[in-house]
Amino acid sequence: MASSHTVLMRLVASAYSIAQKAGTIVRHVIAEGDLGIVEKTCATDLQTKADRLVQMSICSSLARKFPKLTIIGEEDLPPEDVDQELIEDGQWEEILKQPCPSQYTAIKEEDLVVWVDPLDGTKEYTEGLLDNVTVLIGIAYEGKAIAGVINQPYYNYQNNENQKLREPRNEAKAGPDAVLGRTIWGVLGLGAFGFQLKEVPAGKHIITTTRSHNSQLVTDCVAAMNPDDVLRVGGAGNKIIQLIEGKASAYVFASPGCKKWDTCAPEVILHAVGGKLTDIHGNALQYNKEVKHMNSAGVLATLRNYDYYASRVPESVKNVLVP
Ligand code: AMP
Ligand code: MG
Ligand code: MG
Repeated sequence: MASSHTVLMRLVASAYSIAQKAGTIVRHVIAEGDLGIVEKTCATDLQTKADRLVQMSICSSLARKFPKLTIIGEEDLPPEDVDQELIEDGQWEEILKQPCPSQYTAIKEEDLVVWVDPLDGTKEYTEGLLDNVTVLIGIAYEGKAIAGVINQPYYNYQNNENQKLREPRNEAKAGPDAVLGRTIWGVLGLGAFGFQLKEVPAGKHIITTTRSHNSQLVTDCVAAMNPDDVLRVGGAGNKIIQLIEGKASAYVFASPGCKKWDTCAPEVILHAVGGKLTDIHGNALQYNKEVKHMNSAGVLATLRNYDYYASRVPESVKNVLVP
């Protein structure tokens, strides 16, 4: 029997379950203890066994259910048969109960592009900064990011020796009943769910930026924001979560290096709650399948007061970062 749900809502519901499974894989690889680290382009551009297994899991699970999708994953992997254990077939029922925004009801499977970052914050993952890590599944239509799912496998993780260590091994949770990991999802026109929206106190300028991919240009651009505080953390997904949870007021990355799979899902969550993500010049990012992967002109994102931060990007920085 044909489903009464739209393709988009079925895809988001599946992506939610697939992202949850991805989170369990990310935790399992740490628990097993062998990260299988490979350098891609340099020592700060890494791939682990978790990046590889999660990409196989997400891309194969999506392709089985939605064979006409275009799926673009970060990792270059040789074609191989995927272990059945990596396949997730579920779909989150709560999402199927939600109405599809009217502008998306006629979308066909072949019209959608899915951008997959199987593990965002890999450098931090290898260094034990586990709460920086996210799994990102972004969905684009006509070049625009319209739906997204973020799993944070180590939400509630605390590096606290005194806490009882529970499954999986070596992970402490924030309180005996805290659940490790969470999934955030959103669709433009519907909203974003799975977290409590919070704003930074009015008048405070707290900038979040890279800790592993810094440059003089990044430092100059952050300084020009006149910040009260600067947070240096890993992951694009993690930094957008900081914006929606009131921990930072702007994500400033005046550098190439960040890719479409880093920004697609986070951008949707931010836009769904009234925020804004652009390149450093203020241009919207494009997510059609032919687009180049690199966000060459950097990233500027805020929940509120976008214009303040955009107005402070130095011309000298803009001149270097060509879209
Ligand atoms: P970061 O804020 O450093 O965690 O970067 C956000 C995302 O962009 C991560 O997925 C990084 O791997 C990626 N990224 C940023 N700069 C670079 C770079 N120079 N080389 C490789 N990946 C980068
Ligand atoms: Mg990434
Ligand atoms: Mg990644």
